[in-house]
Amino acid sequence: MQKDLNIFIELVEHLLIDEDKNPVAEHIPTSNLYSKLDLSLNNEGTIDESLIRNLKDIIKSTPKTASKSFFNQLFGGRIGKATLGDLLAVMLNNSMYTYKVAGPQVGIEKQVLKNITKLAGYSENSDGTFAPGGSISNMMALIMARDTKNEAIRAKGISSKMTLYTSKESHYSISKNAALTGIGREQVRLVNTNNKGEMLADHLEILIKDDISKGYTPFFINATAGTTVLGAFDHIDTISNISKKYKLWLHVDGAYCGSVIFSKKYKYLVEGLEHSDSFSVNAHKMLGTPLNCSIIVTQHKEQLHHSFSNEADYLYQTDGDDFNLGKTSMQCGRRNDALKIWALWKSVGTNGLEKIVDKQFDMAEVARDYIKKNKDYKLYSFEDSISVCFNYKDIDAKSLCTSLYENSDLMVGFGSFKGEQFVRMVTINSLLEETDILAFFKTLEMHVNDKMLKISTS
Ligand SMILES: *Cc1c(COP(=O)(O)O)cnc(C)c1O
Repeated sequence: MQKDLNIFIELVEHLLIDEDKNPVAEHIPTSNLYSKLDLSLNNEGTIDESLIRNLKDIIKSTPKTASKSFFNQLFGGRIGKATLGDLLAVMLNNSMYTYKVAGPQVGIEKQVLKNITKLAGYSENSDGTFAPGGSISNMMALIMARDTKNEAIRAKGISSKMTLYTSKESHYSISKNAALTGIGREQVRLVNTNNKGEMLADHLEILIKDDISKGYTPFFINATAGTTVLGAFDHIDTISNISKKYKLWLHVDGAYCGSVIFSKKYKYLVEGLEHSDSFSVNAHKMLGTPLNCSIIVTQHKEQLHHSFSNEADYLYQTDGDDFNLGKTSMQCGRRNDALKIWALWKSVGTNGLEKIVDKQFDMAEVARDYIKKNKDYKLYSFEDSISVCFNYKDIDAKSLCTSLYENSDLMVGFGSFKGEQFVRMVTINSLLEETDILAFFKTLEMHVNDKMLKISTS
């Protein structure tokens, strides 16, 4: 093992140097992938020296998501202590289903969950678990809502049309989960949004009433804390009044920006969260831990247990249910995703996590200010969002993003809202400073002027 650890350190040092020199990896067209890199698997093994060379080539060509040029998605950067925690989880290799096998790691997971429920304003009777991503967290919420509405479903299956409500700007996993859980995509009602992408509560209520009058069974509302494109926050307080009135489960999908619960300044964006039934947050997004680190908590501890437990004598042989986390999880064997967020939280404290969150809003403001002051840009996003959406010199956003990527200049994506397409730059890497944000715009402008406008005018 010691030898492999030495190799690991050698490779990581190689990665860090390369990431600095080449923050955007050279683009390999898919048609050349297998000729450019040796990814083959063969009958005979490979000696260490050539394996190391092979891995270095692969590292060099792998997209650098922790670099200062990555603004592509809702994650990025690399925070030391969180990475340390995750590396340790790999070495320990516990499975989180029982106390017998995971020991104190169970306590670590429970501490993280308990503190998240407190920050969410949830009652003492709350609990939660770690899921393999925000999509699955949303699915767990949907399943708890379904089983709460009709507890016979677990045994007998669905026999009536059950409807759920989510905004047009919400994550695609809501519809996908409706298909996966037997609810059916046709029972998903997409609620209209205002010009900022926030759910319209009036329209929500109209849709619910309409379904009731048609004999359907409404059961679930999903509100989003940070929509995937614009980073908009649905008004949880208002929506929770409707969920209470019609006795529907209210889930808050905070995969992207639910971490505002750590910030005194931005917590108001999830006002009313304490009235929701479940809440999910991806620490691998705003808190900057390695993928995956997705948390779901609920105020209905028993429902989590009812919906996800299964007796299994071969597994649950010691200790109480409270410490056998397999009884409340989607999976059987389960990776330890808690240690990375715990190690980060322990090292910087809750105040440190607040700084990580606030920094991203500060950097988004730097970006928005720059755009507002420059007439070549058009801004589409709003205050209090870390998604900075814009167009530059009316250049097609998709062509611009693709050209930046293929020329290894920047990794940034595009999105659309109400028929308009734009570049979506995400300031989620809390390690970046103002100079890095300004460098992003300089690189983009140079790219456009040297490589795009020249080509189109010649
Ligand atoms: C990213 C995201 C998800 C999905 O999370 P994964 O961990 O990628 O599955 C769900 N909802 C929202 C709002 C998101 O931004």
